[in-house]
Amino acid sequence: MADRLHPVVVIGLGRFGTALATGLIEQGGEVLAVDSSPAVVQRLSGQLGQVVTADATDVDALRELGVQDFDRAVVAIGTHQHASILVTSLLDELGVESIWAKALDRQHARILRRVGAHHVVLPEEEMGSRVAHLVSGEVSDYL
Ligand code: ATP
Repeated sequence: MADRLHPVVVIGLGRFGTALATGLIEQGGEVLAVDSSPAVVQRLSGQLGQVVTADATDVDALRELGVQDFDRAVVAIGTHQHASILVTSLLDELGVESIWAKALDRQHARILRRVGAHHVVLPEEEMGSRVAHLVSGEVSDYL
């Protein structure tokens, strides 16, 4: 039998966070999705299952949600860089074992690693380089 998927906390439900949470759910995973905007949470509540409104820069709010009991979390906040950095450091403080974070650029990525992110993704940069391969016709490894 396949291993049970790890439950994941996804913080920030912009385009990236929503697509990521949706993908995890489609794979049969359990997701706790968090966003500080009540309008965003309301819009996604039918689509994502467990979606809650909380300011993830508030450590007490994270504790109340039981984030410390998850071993995987994704910080999908980008434009609000200050929040992305602070939330990543709080997840580290709470002892989350595997922290993924989205960065807008390399400088942001460097800071995220320093404050506790174990994996950093740079969606625009990584996608740009994938598309370069598609455009040049070297598609085999990149589909
Ligand atoms: P996209 O994935 O759409 O490109 P983005 O990189 O522009 O998003 P932001 O707009 O900074 O990222 O944030 C994405 C989501 O994170 C938004 O829906 C926003 O409401 C949410 N968010 C921002 N700050 C916090 C916070 N402190 N706690 C929880 N959610 C937050």
